[in-house]
Amino acid sequence: MNNNEIYNKLRNVLSEKEILRDEPMKVHTSFKIGGPADFFVVPTCVESLVSTIKLCSKEKIPYYIIGNGSNLLVSDKGFRGVIVQIYKNFNEVRIVGDRVSAQAGVLLSKLSKQIYEASLEGFEFASGIPGTLGGAVFMNAGAYGGEMKHILEDVTVITHQGDLINLPKEALALDYRSSILQQEDYVAISATLKLKKGDQAFIKSTLEQLSHKRKTRQPLEIPSAGSTFKRPEGYYAGKLIMDSGLKGYSIGGAQVSEKHCGFVVNKGNATAKDVILLMEHIRLIVKEKFGVELEPEVKLLGQADE
Ligand SMILES: Cc1cc2nc3c(=O)[nH]c(=O)nc-3n(C[C@H](O)[C@H](O)[C@H](O)COP(=O)(O)OP(=O)(O)OC[C@H]3O[C@@H](n4cnc5c(N)ncnc54)[C@H](O)[C@@H]3O)c2cc1C
Repeated sequence: MNNNEIYNKLRNVLSEKEILRDEPMKVHTSFKIGGPADFFVVPTCVESLVSTIKLCSKEKIPYYIIGNGSNLLVSDKGFRGVIVQIYKNFNEVRIVGDRVSAQAGVLLSKLSKQIYEASLEGFEFASGIPGTLGGAVFMNAGAYGGEMKHILEDVTVITHQGDLINLPKEALALDYRSSILQQEDYVAISATLKLKKGDQAFIKSTLEQLSHKRKTRQPLEIPSAGSTFKRPEGYYAGKLIMDSGLKGYSIGGAQVSEKHCGFVVNKGNATAKDVILLMEHIRLIVKEKFGVELEPEVKLLGQADE
Protein backbone atom coordinates (compact mmCIF):
# COMPACT_ATOMS: atom_id res chain seq x y z
CA MET A 1 0.00 0.00 0.00
CA ASN A 2 1.46 3.41 -0.86
CA ASN A 3 1.31 6.42 1.46
CA ASN A 4 -1.65 8.03 -0.31
CA GLU A 5 -3.61 4.81 0.13
CA ILE A 6 -2.61 4.68 3.80
CA TYR A 7 -3.68 8.31 4.20
CA ASN A 8 -7.10 7.58 2.68
CA LYS A 9 -7.56 4.62 5.02
CA LEU A 10 -6.56 6.72 8.04
CA ARG A 11 -9.05 9.40 6.98
CA ASN A 12 -11.83 6.83 7.41
CA VAL A 13 -11.11 6.72 11.15
CA LEU A 14 -9.44 10.07 11.91
CA SER A 15 -10.12 13.69 11.02
CA GLU A 16 -7.73 15.68 8.85
CA LYS A 17 -6.33 17.54 11.85
CA GLU A 18 -5.54 14.30 13.69
CA ILE A 19 -3.09 13.22 10.95
CA LEU A 20 0.28 14.83 10.32
CA ARG A 21 2.45 13.71 7.41
CA ASP A 22 6.26 13.59 7.31
CA GLU A 23 6.42 14.79 10.87
CA PRO A 24 9.99 15.20 12.24
CA MET A 25 10.34 12.94 15.26
CA LYS A 26 13.03 15.13 16.79
CA VAL A 27 10.20 17.48 17.78
CA HIS A 28 8.54 14.71 19.78
CA THR A 29 11.51 13.17 21.61
CA SER A 30 13.44 14.46 24.61
CA PHE A 31 16.66 13.47 22.78
CA LYS A 32 15.70 15.97 20.01
CA ILE A 33 16.73 13.30 17.49
CA GLY A 34 14.82 11.46 14.78
CA GLY A 35 13.84 11.77 11.14
CA PRO A 36 10.31 12.03 9.75
CA ALA A 37 7.45 9.67 10.48
CA ASP A 38 5.34 9.05 7.36
CA PHE A 39 2.28 9.56 9.54
CA PHE A 40 2.06 11.00 13.04
CA VAL A 41 -1.45 10.71 14.39
CA VAL A 42 -2.97 12.32 17.45
CA PRO A 43 -6.36 10.68 18.08
CA THR A 44 -8.65 12.89 20.14
CA CYS A 45 -10.76 10.16 21.76
CA VAL A 46 -10.60 6.50 22.74
CA GLU A 47 -12.88 5.50 19.85
CA SER A 48 -10.59 6.98 17.18
CA LEU A 49 -7.56 5.53 18.95
CA VAL A 50 -9.10 2.04 18.94
CA SER A 51 -10.15 2.41 15.30
CA THR A 52 -6.61 3.44 14.33
CA ILE A 53 -5.08 0.38 16.03
CA LYS A 54 -7.69 -1.92 14.46
CA LEU A 55 -7.10 -0.42 11.03
CA CYS A 56 -3.30 -0.69 11.23
CA SER A 57 -3.48 -4.30 12.48
CA LYS A 58 -6.00 -5.37 9.85
CA GLU A 59 -4.17 -3.67 6.97
CA LYS A 60 -0.71 -4.66 8.31
CA ILE A 61 0.40 -1.03 8.42
CA PRO A 62 3.37 -0.72 10.83
CA TYR A 63 2.50 1.42 13.85
CA TYR A 64 4.24 2.52 17.01
CA ILE A 65 2.88 4.20 20.14
CA ILE A 66 4.56 7.15 21.79
CA GLY A 67 3.81 9.19 24.87
CA ASN A 68 6.16 12.07 25.63
CA GLY A 69 9.09 10.48 23.77
CA SER A 70 11.36 10.64 26.82
CA ASN A 71 12.72 7.11 26.49
CA LEU A 72 13.09 6.94 22.75
CA LEU A 73 15.84 7.04 20.15
CA VAL A 74 14.33 7.35 16.67
CA SER A 75 16.44 6.60 13.60
CA ASP A 76 17.67 9.47 11.42
CA LYS A 77 15.55 8.08 8.59
CA GLY A 78 12.46 8.25 10.78
CA PHE A 79 9.65 5.72 10.67
CA ARG A 80 7.84 4.17 7.70
CA GLY A 81 4.35 3.79 9.07
CA VAL A 82 2.09 5.39 11.64
CA ILE A 83 3.24 6.87 14.94
CA VAL A 84 0.30 7.10 17.33
CA GLN A 85 0.75 9.68 20.05
CA ILE A 86 -1.07 9.19 23.36
CA TYR A 87 -0.42 12.40 25.20
CA LYS A 88 -2.31 15.65 25.61
CA ASN A 89 -5.65 14.36 24.31
CA PHE A 90 -5.73 11.69 27.01
CA ASN A 91 -5.08 13.43 30.28
CA GLU A 92 -8.18 13.08 32.44
CA VAL A 93 -7.60 12.33 36.12
CA ARG A 94 -10.12 11.32 38.77
CA ILE A 95 -9.27 10.89 42.43
CA VAL A 96 -11.67 9.11 44.76
CA GLY A 97 -10.43 8.32 48.27
CA ASP A 98 -7.00 6.72 47.92
CA ARG A 99 -7.55 5.63 44.30
CA VAL A 100 -6.39 7.61 41.28
CA SER A 101 -7.81 6.77 37.84
CA ALA A 102 -6.07 8.51 34.98
CA GLN A 103 -5.81 8.37 31.23
CA ALA A 104 -2.51 7.20 29.78
CA GLY A 105 -1.46 10.52 28.26
CA VAL A 106 -1.22 12.48 31.50
CA LEU A 107 2.31 13.58 32.39
CA LEU A 108 3.65 12.10 35.63
CA SER A 109 4.61 15.62 36.79
CA LYS A 110 1.04 16.86 36.37
CA LEU A 111 -0.37 13.74 37.98
CA SER A 112 2.03 14.10 40.87
CA LYS A 113 0.79 17.66 41.51
CA GLN A 114 -2.83 16.52 41.65
CA ILE A 115 -1.94 13.60 43.89
CA TYR A 116 -0.05 15.94 46.22
CA GLU A 117 -3.04 18.31 46.33
CA ALA A 118 -5.20 15.34 47.37
CA SER A 119 -2.67 14.56 50.17
CA LEU A 120 -1.97 11.10 48.82
CA GLU A 121 1.38 9.46 49.43
CA GLY A 122 3.35 6.92 47.38
CA PHE A 123 3.74 8.67 44.02
CA GLU A 124 6.58 11.03 44.97
CA PHE A 125 9.22 8.86 43.25
CA ALA A 126 7.57 9.46 39.85
CA SER A 127 7.21 13.24 40.03
CA GLY A 128 10.44 14.02 38.17
CA ILE A 129 10.19 11.30 35.50
CA PRO A 130 9.40 13.25 32.32
CA GLY A 131 7.03 10.72 30.74
CA THR A 132 3.34 9.95 30.49
CA LEU A 133 1.47 7.48 32.66
CA GLY A 134 1.19 5.08 29.68
CA GLY A 135 4.94 5.21 29.06
CA ALA A 136 5.57 4.65 32.77
CA VAL A 137 3.31 1.58 32.86
CA PHE A 138 4.91 0.17 29.70
CA MET A 139 8.40 0.67 31.17
CA ASN A 140 7.49 -0.02 34.80
CA ALA A 141 9.29 3.26 35.39
CA GLY A 142 10.94 3.78 38.74
CA ALA A 143 13.25 6.00 40.73
CA TYR A 144 14.60 6.44 44.25
CA GLY A 145 13.32 3.08 45.48
CA GLY A 146 9.82 3.47 44.01
CA GLU A 147 8.36 1.71 40.98
CA MET A 148 5.02 1.77 39.13
CA LYS A 149 4.73 -1.86 40.26
CA HIS A 150 4.26 -0.74 43.86
CA ILE A 151 1.24 1.48 43.16
CA LEU A 152 -0.58 0.14 40.09
CA GLU A 153 -3.92 -1.52 40.69
CA ASP A 154 -5.04 -2.16 37.11
CA VAL A 155 -4.52 -0.99 33.56
CA THR A 156 -6.92 -0.85 30.62
CA VAL A 157 -5.25 -1.71 27.34
CA ILE A 158 -6.08 -2.07 23.67
CA THR A 159 -4.93 -5.38 22.22
CA HIS A 160 -3.31 -5.72 18.79
CA GLN A 161 -6.74 -6.75 17.44
CA GLY A 162 -8.33 -3.62 18.87
CA ASP A 163 -10.14 -5.18 21.85
CA LEU A 164 -10.28 -3.32 25.16
CA ILE A 165 -9.29 -5.36 28.20
CA ASN A 166 -8.71 -4.54 31.83
CA LEU A 167 -5.64 -6.15 33.39
CA PRO A 168 -5.28 -6.39 37.16
CA LYS A 169 -1.81 -5.79 38.57
CA GLU A 170 -1.09 -9.54 38.79
CA ALA A 171 -1.54 -9.87 35.02
CA LEU A 172 0.89 -7.03 34.20
CA ALA A 173 4.14 -9.03 34.69
CA LEU A 174 5.80 -5.93 36.12
CA ASP A 175 9.53 -6.34 36.48
CA TYR A 176 12.59 -4.11 36.29
CA ARG A 177 11.80 -1.75 33.37
CA SER A 178 9.49 -4.30 31.81
CA SER A 179 5.82 -5.23 31.68
CA ILE A 180 3.42 -7.45 29.78
CA LEU A 181 2.67 -4.46 27.55
CA GLN A 182 6.12 -4.85 25.96
CA GLN A 183 5.65 -8.53 25.25
CA GLU A 184 2.08 -8.35 23.94
CA ASP A 185 2.14 -4.96 22.17
CA TYR A 186 -0.67 -3.77 24.39
CA VAL A 187 -1.54 -0.08 24.27
CA ALA A 188 -2.33 1.48 27.65
CA ILE A 189 -5.26 3.87 27.67
CA SER A 190 -5.83 4.29 31.40
CA ALA A 191 -4.69 3.03 34.77
CA THR A 192 -5.74 3.00 38.39
CA LEU A 193 -3.24 3.66 41.14
CA LYS A 194 -3.74 2.74 44.76
CA LEU A 195 -2.05 5.18 47.12
CA LYS A 196 -2.48 6.04 50.78
CA LYS A 197 -3.54 9.12 52.71
CA GLY A 198 -0.52 11.08 53.88
CA ASP A 199 0.60 14.30 55.43
CA GLN A 200 0.76 17.07 52.83
CA ALA A 201 3.72 18.87 54.40
CA PHE A 202 5.70 15.64 54.51
CA ILE A 203 4.83 14.81 50.87
CA LYS A 204 5.91 18.31 49.87
CA SER A 205 9.26 17.98 51.56
CA THR A 206 9.87 14.57 49.90
CA LEU A 207 9.00 16.06 46.49
CA GLU A 208 11.41 18.93 47.08
CA GLN A 209 14.23 16.63 48.18
CA LEU A 210 13.83 14.35 45.16
CA SER A 211 13.64 17.30 42.78
CA HIS A 212 16.83 18.73 44.30
CA LYS A 213 18.59 15.36 43.90
CA ARG A 214 17.63 15.19 40.23
CA LYS A 215 18.66 18.76 39.48
CA THR A 216 22.05 18.38 41.13
CA ARG A 217 22.89 14.91 39.78
CA GLN A 218 21.31 14.70 36.31
CA PRO A 219 22.04 16.72 33.16
CA LEU A 220 18.45 17.97 32.90
CA GLU A 221 19.49 21.02 30.88
CA ILE A 222 20.79 18.94 27.94
CA PRO A 223 18.59 16.73 25.68
CA SER A 224 18.74 13.02 26.54
CA ALA A 225 16.48 10.03 27.06
CA GLY A 226 17.43 9.55 30.72
CA SER A 227 19.44 6.47 31.70
CA THR A 228 20.76 4.99 28.49
CA PHE A 229 21.31 1.51 29.93
CA LYS A 230 19.49 -0.63 32.44
CA ARG A 231 21.09 -1.19 35.83
CA PRO A 232 23.03 -4.48 35.58
CA GLU A 233 22.50 -6.68 38.61
CA GLY A 234 24.98 -5.80 41.34
CA TYR A 235 26.30 -2.67 39.58
CA TYR A 236 25.34 0.84 38.48
CA ALA A 237 25.67 1.50 34.75
CA GLY A 238 26.80 5.09 35.34
CA LYS A 239 29.61 4.03 37.69
CA LEU A 240 30.82 1.28 35.34
CA ILE A 241 30.92 3.82 32.50
CA MET A 242 32.74 6.37 34.62
CA ASP A 243 35.24 3.79 35.90
CA SER A 244 35.88 2.84 32.27
CA GLY A 245 37.22 6.35 31.71
CA LEU A 246 34.38 7.34 29.40
CA LYS A 247 33.13 10.45 31.18
CA GLY A 248 32.68 13.16 28.53
CA TYR A 249 33.62 10.78 25.70
CA SER A 250 31.84 11.75 22.52
CA ILE A 251 31.10 10.60 19.01
CA GLY A 252 29.74 13.33 16.75
CA GLY A 253 27.17 15.24 18.77
CA ALA A 254 26.54 12.41 21.25
CA GLN A 255 28.38 12.51 24.53
CA VAL A 256 28.63 10.57 27.79
CA SER A 257 27.33 13.21 30.19
CA GLU A 258 29.99 14.92 32.28
CA LYS A 259 27.45 15.23 35.09
CA HIS A 260 26.08 11.67 35.12
CA CYS A 261 27.82 8.96 33.10
CA GLY A 262 24.62 6.91 32.95
CA PHE A 263 23.20 9.47 30.51
CA VAL A 264 24.16 9.87 26.86
CA VAL A 265 23.33 13.47 25.94
CA ASN A 266 22.79 15.29 22.67
CA LYS A 267 25.25 18.13 23.02
CA GLY A 268 24.03 19.65 19.74
CA ASN A 269 22.95 18.19 16.41
CA ALA A 270 23.66 14.58 17.41
CA THR A 271 22.29 12.01 14.99
CA ALA A 272 20.77 8.70 16.02
CA LYS A 273 23.80 7.10 14.40
CA ASP A 274 26.15 9.07 16.69
CA VAL A 275 24.20 7.85 19.73
CA ILE A 276 24.16 4.24 18.54
CA LEU A 277 27.89 4.23 17.80
CA LEU A 278 28.56 5.74 21.22
CA MET A 279 26.33 3.16 22.91
CA GLU A 280 28.17 0.35 21.09
CA HIS A 281 31.51 1.80 22.16
CA ILE A 282 30.39 2.07 25.78
CA ARG A 283 29.13 -1.52 25.78
CA LEU A 284 32.37 -2.78 24.30
CA ILE A 285 34.65 -0.98 26.76
CA VAL A 286 32.55 -1.84 29.82
CA LYS A 287 32.46 -5.49 28.74
CA GLU A 288 36.25 -5.50 28.22
CA LYS A 289 37.03 -3.82 31.55
CA PHE A 290 34.43 -5.37 33.83
CA GLY A 291 32.94 -8.31 31.94
CA VAL A 292 29.47 -6.77 32.33
CA GLU A 293 26.95 -6.65 29.45
CA LEU A 294 25.04 -3.39 29.39
CA GLU A 295 21.54 -3.61 28.03
CA PRO A 296 19.86 -0.50 26.56
CA GLU A 297 17.01 0.96 28.57
CA VAL A 298 16.24 3.47 25.82
CA LYS A 299 13.86 2.07 23.19
CA LEU A 300 15.24 2.17 19.66
CA LEU A 301 12.89 2.85 16.79
CA GLY A 302 14.30 2.11 13.35
CA GLN A 303 17.56 0.44 12.31
CA ALA A 304 20.94 1.34 13.77
CA ASP A 305 22.52 1.93 10.36
CA GLU A 306 19.64 3.94 8.94
C1 LIG B 1 15.90 13.55 32.04
C2 LIG B 1 15.23 12.20 32.11
C3 LIG B 1 15.13 11.54 33.31
C4 LIG B 1 14.51 10.29 33.38
N1 LIG B 1 14.41 9.66 34.59
C5 LIG B 1 13.82 8.45 34.67
C6 LIG B 1 13.71 7.78 35.93
O1 LIG B 1 14.10 8.28 36.98
N2 LIG B 1 13.11 6.55 35.94
C7 LIG B 1 12.64 5.96 34.80
O2 LIG B 1 12.10 4.84 34.89
N3 LIG B 1 12.74 6.58 33.60
C8 LIG B 1 13.30 7.80 33.50
N4 LIG B 1 13.40 8.42 32.29
C9 LIG B 1 12.93 7.74 31.07
C10 LIG B 1 11.46 8.01 30.70
O3 LIG B 1 11.03 9.29 31.16
C11 LIG B 1 10.52 6.91 31.21
O4 LIG B 1 10.86 5.66 30.65
C12 LIG B 1 9.05 7.21 30.91
O5 LIG B 1 8.26 6.27 31.56
C13 LIG B 1 8.73 7.17 29.40
O6 LIG B 1 7.44 7.72 29.19
P1 LIG B 1 7.07 8.42 27.80
O7 LIG B 1 5.63 8.80 27.86
O8 LIG B 1 8.00 9.53 27.50
O9 LIG B 1 7.26 7.21 26.81
P2 LIG B 1 7.92 7.21 25.34
O10 LIG B 1 9.35 7.59 25.45
O11 LIG B 1 7.06 7.99 24.42
O12 LIG B 1 7.84 5.67 25.03
C14 LIG B 1 8.65 4.74 25.73
C15 LIG B 1 8.12 3.33 25.41
O13 LIG B 1 6.82 3.21 25.96
C16 LIG B 1 5.87 2.87 24.95
N5 LIG B 1 4.62 3.59 25.26
C17 LIG B 1 4.47 4.90 25.54
N6 LIG B 1 3.18 5.19 25.82
C18 LIG B 1 2.50 4.01 25.74
C19 LIG B 1 1.14 3.62 25.92
N7 LIG B 1 0.19 4.49 26.25
N8 LIG B 1 0.81 2.31 25.74
C20 LIG B 1 1.76 1.40 25.38
N9 LIG B 1 3.05 1.71 25.19
C21 LIG B 1 3.43 2.99 25.37
C22 LIG B 1 6.49 3.32 23.63
O14 LIG B 1 6.02 2.51 22.54
C23 LIG B 1 7.99 3.09 23.90
O15 LIG B 1 8.37 1.78 23.61
C24 LIG B 1 14.00 9.68 32.20
C25 LIG B 1 14.11 10.36 30.98
C26 LIG B 1 14.72 11.61 30.93
C27 LIG B 1 14.80 12.33 29.60
